[in-house]
Amino acid sequence: MELETVDEAVEARRDDLTDLARDVWEHPQTAFEETYAADRLIGVLAERGFDVEVGVGDVETGFVARYGDGDPVVGTMGEFDALPGLSQEASATKKPIEEGGNGHGCGHNLFGVGSLGAALAVADAIDGGVEGSVVYVGTPAEEAGSGKVYMARGGAFDDIDAMVSWHPGWYNAPTKGSCLAVDSYEVTVHGESSHAAASPEAGRSALDGLQLLNTAVEYMREHVPDPVRLHYVITEGGDAANVVPPEATGEYLVRAPSRDLVEEVSAWFSRAAEGAALMADVDVEVTKTSGVYGVRPNETLGDAVRETMDELGSFSVDDPLADELSDALRDTSDQIAVLPEEHRDRAAENAYFTEPIDALDAGTTGSYSTDSGDVSQIVPLGRMTTATWPAGTPLHSWQAVAASGSTGTEGMLYASKAIGGTLLRLLTDRDLLAEVVAEFEDRGGKEGYEPAMPEDADPYELLGVDRPDFEPTADAEPEATAGTADDD
Ligand SMILES: [Zn+2]
Repeated sequence: MELETVDEAVEARRDDLTDLARDVWEHPQTAFEETYAADRLIGVLAERGFDVEVGVGDVETGFVARYGDGDPVVGTMGEFDALPGLSQEASATKKPIEEGGNGHGCGHNLFGVGSLGAALAVADAIDGGVEGSVVYVGTPAEEAGSGKVYMARGGAFDDIDAMVSWHPGWYNAPTKGSCLAVDSYEVTVHGESSHAAASPEAGRSALDGLQLLNTAVEYMREHVPDPVRLHYVITEGGDAANVVPPEATGEYLVRAPSRDLVEEVSAWFSRAAEGAALMADVDVEVTKTSGVYGVRPNETLGDAVRETMDELGSFSVDDPLADELSDALRDTSDQIAVLPEEHRDRAAENAYFTEPIDALDAGTTGSYSTDSGDVSQIVPLGRMTTATWPAGTPLHSWQAVAASGSTGTEGMLYASKAIGGTLLRLLTDRDLLAEVVAEFEDRGGKEGYEPAMPEDADPYELLGVDRPDFEPTADAEPEATAGTADDD
């Protein structure tokens, strides 16, 4: 049975994968700057004989690693960016390693390495005679910057027949729902400075322009379809009250279940910005800083993931730190209430809840957004979450950082097996793959996909980070690394 092969392949690398996840955790880098993690992941893939293309879609730390040359082609992807300000020790007391430093509060150190474990296991199966290829797509900048959109623009997902991915969490289940598409905008208003009391008539307030736009957004809320979400913040509103502000900037988000609706509301928003500029007699610039699709679900893949999890069963986390981390959480009853009644006691009584369960979001549209949405418009995408953190742990919390650097690796290895097992089934069961593809086509196929960002959009410029000078170590000595792979 395929799953046994995958199980063995992951267990054989248990220590290496665990150490690598910890190493990435110890080197947290934020969106588009994740050179350390990218280098380590590329190193392992290259050594195992994957063909690695780096810098895909104008993203320096983005890469596509391929093993095998036959059909079908299955794939997985790995995120590895950290969050700013979430530095935290791997302990049950809130304590940053570096005050104000980065931390893996979304567990992307586990994400990247867990998917890697799956890709390596499938590569082993291909060596063992299974027909097909496996692709690992290294996808930077999920927390900010929407890296996958640019990688999609660069064709990173084009020739993959089906993908399975995951996200760290606190229970084991497929993810079957959709989520909201989103556009982000930066609005810059240019006015004219003057003394606010002595010569106000000589000035034009950029802040007035922005406030009038915000007022328009408040009125828009009443007349957009219910699932639409509009948010804004003022990022620059002037320096002193006695100076008419010559410059003001704000950030805006427009979310809706479909791209079409996002674009319709965004067009209204842009007209409102023009109107606000007219009223305040100022100039306005609206820059789109990102645009992503909602997730297109694939229920067939969700079911396949669920079956793999059933075969895997549950797992245990044998570490006293698990209980301490669980105790360090605030009241988790609201979080645990998302589970069906029959699982709540077990989740509340144990630090980790590792019984596989059905998808909690089938048929729903979550109010979050992710750049995985774009991937799901190009290739059938199966998604899941596994229990890397104690039950009820919120994303982006210090407890999530602590668990991602310690007790979380057991759930990560479980993800490697669940993804690897499902991918291997897709390679060996052509009827299942055909069914997955048929559902994808039924839901619209990839023909209608157009990246929501223009061809010339520069991800680095839009996010305001310097393009890293990234040269992976593995590429420097390709022969030497290939030689070590043979010795394994
Ligand atoms: Zn995340």
